[in-house]
Amino acid sequence: MMSDCIFCKIVKGELPCVKVYETEKVLAFLDLNPVNQGHTLVIPKEHFENLSSTTDEFLSELVVVSKKIGAAVLAATGSVAFNLTVNNGKEAGQVVAHTHFHIIPRFNGDGLRLWSGKAYAAGEMEAMGEKIKQYVEKN
Ligand code: AMP
Ligand code: ZN
Repeated sequence: MMSDCIFCKIVKGELPCVKVYETEKVLAFLDLNPVNQGHTLVIPKEHFENLSSTTDEFLSELVVVSKKIGAAVLAATGSVAFNLTVNNGKEAGQVVAHTHFHIIPRFNGDGLRLWSGKAYAAGEMEAMGEKIKQYVEKN
């Protein structure tokens, strides 16, 4: 637990939240500034700064619970689709340095755009694939 972390404070009950589900390892609660209503966060009850430093044990539980909560959010909001998003690191838009999965219910024409693709130049895609493969083996 990190004493100055807002999500650790939520886990400890020192800050309020609208809880929707919890297990021994994870907690799901509503985002207070939702992209769409029903936007839910799923967090490990232990402090990890980001996805990359979260143990596989907690990550597995986060994914399984996100699937379950995703279904409940769809049913509750009348949506038929959701984005499961992790902002991993400041440059990726992570503001709260305690791992969290965003479940964002989506509606036709809600206008949210996550990214747009850019084509590779000739040969770049194969080279990038090779480079990443090498690092997968080293990590
Ligand atoms: P990120 O940009 O991925 O770090 O997302 C942090 C999210 O946490 C944002 O969507 C905030 O609206 C949300 N948030 C921050 N503080 C609280 C809080 N006390 N209770 C619920 N959600 C929060
Ligand atoms: Zn924390």
